[in-house]
Amino acid sequence: MIHFEDVSKTYSTADGPVHALSGVNMDVGQREFIAVRGPSGCGKSTLLMLAGGLGTATSGRVSVAGEDLTAAGPAALARFRAKRIGFVFQMFHLLPYLTVLDNVAAASTGEQSTARARAAELLEKFHLTDRLRHRPAELSAGERQRVAMARALINGPTLILADEPTGNLDPGSATIVLDLLADFHREGGTVLLVTHEEQAAAYAGRTILLRQGTIEGDATASSKQEEPERA
Ligand code: ADP
Repeated sequence: MIHFEDVSKTYSTADGPVHALSGVNMDVGQREFIAVRGPSGCGKSTLLMLAGGLGTATSGRVSVAGEDLTAAGPAALARFRAKRIGFVFQMFHLLPYLTVLDNVAAASTGEQSTARARAAELLEKFHLTDRLRHRPAELSAGERQRVAMARALINGPTLILADEPTGNLDPGSATIVLDLLADFHREGGTVLLVTHEEQAAAYAGRTILLRQGTIEGDATASSKQEEPERA
C-alpha cells in the first residue's frame, strides 16, 4: 500500500537545510495498522505528509496504492488524496464557519445532495446526529475529532493517515476515536498512525520507530490480537 524507497526530505530554512528524513525504506501492506513513533522532531509528520502526497520527497521514490507520488504533479496529487486518503490531525482542522454537516459534506468529491446524505449517515454512526447544525466551536474536542473522522471517511478512502489524533483528547474520547480507526481497519482499511501515546500505539499491529530521520526499529506486535479489548 505504501512503498518508500530511499526517501529523503530536506527542508531549506533561513538557518540552513534541515534533514527531516534520510534514506528511509518502508513497506506498508494493505490492511495493516501501523504506529509511527519516536521523539519530537524525528520526522514522523514529514513521513506521514509524504505518504499522503501533501509534500514531495527531496530524493527517493514514494508510491502509494500503486501510484508513484514522486512523478505526480499537483493536480494529480490532489485527485489522489481526495480519492484514496483520509487525513486526521491533532488540531482537527475543521472549518470554523461551516456547520458540522457541511464540514463533512464539503470534503466529498461526489454530488452534493448525495454527499450530505452520506455525511449525515456517518455523523449518525458517530453519535453526532444532534450536532449537525452546530459549528465546531460549539463541540467538545472529542466530538470535533469524530467530525474529522467522518470527514476522513466521506470519500471511502483505502488509507487513513492520522497525525496524533488523540493528542488533544481525554482518555475516554481518545478510546472512541481509536475504536473508529480500528473499525475502519477491520473493514479492510490501512491505517498509519503517528503517536506519542502508548494507548494509541497498542491498537497497531506493527510499530515503526523513527530517530533523527531514519528508521531505528520496526516491530510487529507479538500477540495475534491486533487491538486491545474494548472497555
Ligand atoms: P515529528 O513529527 O517527529 O515531530 P517533523 O516531521 O514535524 O517531526 O519534523 C522533522 C524535522 O523537520 C524537525 O527538525 C522540524 O523542525 C523540521 N521541519 C518540519 N517541517 C518543516 C518545515 N515546513 N520547514 C522547515 N523545517 C521543518
